[in-house]
Amino acid sequence: MKYKDLIFKEKSKEKILKIKEQVVNYITNNKRKSKIIASASVFVLCIGSISIIKLNSKEVIACAKSRNTMLAGETITDIAFNGSSEIEKGPAKSYGKVIYLTIDDGPSAYTDEIIKILNRNNVKATFFMINSNMEAYPEQVKNIVKNGNTAGFHSVTHDIHKLYTSPTAAKKEFDINQETFKKITGETSKIIRLPFGSKPYTPRSSYNALMDAGYKLWDWTLDTEDWKSTSAQIMKSVKQHTNDTDNAVLLMHERKQTVAILDQMIKYLKKEGFEILPIKQRDEQRNYWNGKLFSEEK
Ligand SMILES: [Zn+2]
Repeated sequence: MKYKDLIFKEKSKEKILKIKEQVVNYITNNKRKSKIIASASVFVLCIGSISIIKLNSKEVIACAKSRNTMLAGETITDIAFNGSSEIEKGPAKSYGKVIYLTIDDGPSAYTDEIIKILNRNNVKATFFMINSNMEAYPEQVKNIVKNGNTAGFHSVTHDIHKLYTSPTAAKKEFDINQETFKKITGETSKIIRLPFGSKPYTPRSSYNALMDAGYKLWDWTLDTEDWKSTSAQIMKSVKQHTNDTDNAVLLMHERKQTVAILDQMIKYLKKEGFEILPIKQRDEQRNYWNGKLFSEEK
């Protein structure tokens, strides 16, 4: 290597070192500045993300607000009816159509016939039973369980003037249901339904006591109003209220006119693509209080 080249190389080295030194100095002197710039960048990013999330949830909040306003003085059936049109405004659903058949106030002289119809159609239902009826129809209670249906409880008194005399009154009634059911079948269930629904009669203290005891409270989204209807009216109501939803909890009772239309109702729901399911112990409860009455409320 020539002397000239050597000098040139040394000079380049010096230059690089000098630049390096300058950079280090700049960073050291401007540490505060850099921090501020970095913080500002993170802040701007956060604001951006929050805005996007807010925009997405704006619709959901508006929906919840309108429902809250709507709730005052309405029954579960009113809420379910008014809410059904809102469901259509939600995002596209990717899951299949599901319906839970729930049968209240039994067991009764109709229970065996109901089970036969369910079996014939290869579907299961959920029975919300009153204490005195379990005692009067123990074989039917066993039949419900034996055939793979779900046993749920529906209080002792079936009286809103007695269920809420103290925060634990309702819970105690369901405890009695548990004992009766255990005596008959040797099994347990945590699934319950309050007579007339949990809205507007149930105080928060009563709801809390039920939750503390581990009960799973189920209201309904579709009231067939079968107790005051003819078979034809029940069918009409089911058709009307299932054509704009793909996830429903259907309420019916152990009545003659209901039993008479049940087979046809099940066949119609199947034809419409509904999967008919019993409520499972592991399922998340759906009620007014937890905001999950409609499956879309997530
Ligand atoms: Zn009832």
